[in-house]
Amino acid sequence: MTVEAHKETLGFQSEAKQLLHLMIHSLYSNKEIFLRELIANASDAIDKLRFASLSEPELLGKDSDFKIRIDVDKEARTISITDNGIGMTRDDAITHLGTIAKSGTSQFLQSLTGDQQKDSQLIGQFGVGFYSSFIVAEKVVVETLAAGTDSSEAVRWISIGEADFEVETIERPARGTTVILHLKADQDEYLDGWTLKNIVKKYADHVSVPVVMKKEAVVADDDESVQDITEYETINTAKALWTRSRSEVSDDEYIEFYKHVSHDFQDPIRWSHNKVEGKLDYTSLIYLPAKAPFDLWQREAPRGLKLYVQRVFIMDEAEQFLPLYLRFIKGVVDSNDLSLNVSREILQKDPAIESMRTALTKRALDIMEKLAKDDAEKYQEFWKEFGQVLKEGPAEDFTNKEKISRLLRFSTTHTGAATQDQSLDDYIGRMKEGQDKIYYVAAENYHTATNSPHLEVFKKKDIEVLVLYDRIDEWLMSHLMEFDGKQFQDVAKGSLDLGVLEDETEKENHEKVEEEFKDLVSRITELLGEKVEEVRITHRLTDSPACLVVNEDEMGMQMRRILESAGQAVPGSKRIFEINPEHPLVVKLNDEPDLDRFSDLTMVIFDQAMLAEGSQLEEPANYVKRLNKLLLELSA
Ligand code: ADP
Repeated sequence: MTVEAHKETLGFQSEAKQLLHLMIHSLYSNKEIFLRELIANASDAIDKLRFASLSEPELLGKDSDFKIRIDVDKEARTISITDNGIGMTRDDAITHLGTIAKSGTSQFLQSLTGDQQKDSQLIGQFGVGFYSSFIVAEKVVVETLAAGTDSSEAVRWISIGEADFEVETIERPARGTTVILHLKADQDEYLDGWTLKNIVKKYADHVSVPVVMKKEAVVADDDESVQDITEYETINTAKALWTRSRSEVSDDEYIEFYKHVSHDFQDPIRWSHNKVEGKLDYTSLIYLPAKAPFDLWQREAPRGLKLYVQRVFIMDEAEQFLPLYLRFIKGVVDSNDLSLNVSREILQKDPAIESMRTALTKRALDIMEKLAKDDAEKYQEFWKEFGQVLKEGPAEDFTNKEKISRLLRFSTTHTGAATQDQSLDDYIGRMKEGQDKIYYVAAENYHTATNSPHLEVFKKKDIEVLVLYDRIDEWLMSHLMEFDGKQFQDVAKGSLDLGVLEDETEKENHEKVEEEFKDLVSRITELLGEKVEEVRITHRLTDSPACLVVNEDEMGMQMRRILESAGQAVPGSKRIFEINPEHPLVVKLNDEPDLDRFSDLTMVIFDQAMLAEGSQLEEPANYVKRLNKLLLELSA
């Protein structure tokens, strides 16, 4: 092979190119984070090598003194970050540094607005990483040798952060990676040792390997020429943060550590750091993020905690420690019981994992519960980001149903706004004397829900109703069933029984009216035929002439619409058509002798009931025709 064959120029994947461009332009106000990202990568590379050497000790060779070294060359205007971690092969460098493997990247990029302020927030949710080098560097050179490969197979990767990068094979005696940043003209501040040390302290104190830098030269008064100082000092505490006691760790350190494990740009809301001893022996540090990551809804997105066994990094995203509905929780767990060669398959079967999962789930729910109690406003922000995910909880985690239920937030007819900020306890606190059910109305959106005819009697009697309009809501309700001994009741299901909320005279009156309208009910039943299951008189309406309900044991209409729109076959169900005897149109219908007009009016009222609940008409054109006919008769 010729030397030229070793050197090639390759284009960045288009997503990578876009991200690079964005990074350079939108993160300018927070540029020092490049160092955090590069140190995090170096530390990850050391973790990976440590792990790999458990089964292949020869990978370490003679060098098991792990460290990350930062060097500054003022003349060349470069900063180099060197680690003796796992390194990269040529193929690794091309793939890892030239493409972005995260699924959903292109959708993410499309969601960007072009507004730098907003985009810098968004990009934080994506995770910044290696490309942040280009915020301060005009050229980045990476020299790397993969552990276990020959020194002649090292590779140099060079890019100026535009369309392409170059790779060539080089000699490198030592395993590991050096990232050399050639600073842009106006970035001289980073050539200053003190500045760099402060940044390292600020962002990488918790990194468990030493980060070393040359000692600063002190110029003596009687000036002898300053000698080149070759002595290195360790800048960070270099102790795994979770192994320290809580009282020793400051909030800032917890926050920085979060950014390190989560690749999130923003501060977390809360965290919980616990050491468990006894039957099981482990430490966990879990965080509640402030913002949802871009891939929260991507099925295949990685999730889970970083797993360590006896301080040795084992894997990222160990998803066995938390249920799916808590996939937004980030953090680490360090076990003293598991074996160092534990695999994902073993994790799935190990009974110890099951009890850790139970404890961690409870801990995560406790963080939220405490947040809700201490700071309703912050909790509200959390709910906006993750409430939809938490709603998956009752179905997935039956044991914690009650606990999760207390964390749910709803909008209700009481607050009169499309803001989900009321808890079930709030609702129960306002229940009417004698009320034994929690009522809810479900529709496609807030407006349709709150204008549902089914709410009329509740408005009249001033009974509060939960207003549900998220896709998942009816499904959630079907798993909740009850809360605090009170059943949930869909206001559009079954015959309305308000129990003691109705007095005796009202009930007697209902019976009388039903008798009076018996004939009308059978005329309508005959006319509608197969279209409905039943026609009956209702007392749930005040303003509307009619509404449709489903039987108690049938699927709710909103759920039906969602399943149908997802292309699922849903068994057909017939509806119950309820008419309001107090409404002038129904009274008119009762007195209508003309058969044609009776039929038109009935059909119009029926179709309107469909429209009011947000359903589609089977024959909209006929509806329009009938309505216009009636309108013309009116004006004649
Ligand atoms: P992330 O760290 O979130 O995966 P980055 O863009 O920071 O994303 O890095 C991309 C990949 O490049 C890493 O996942 C890793 O495989 C590789 N990489 C980066 N820096 C190093 C390093 N110092 N040593 C070994 N591999 C590295």
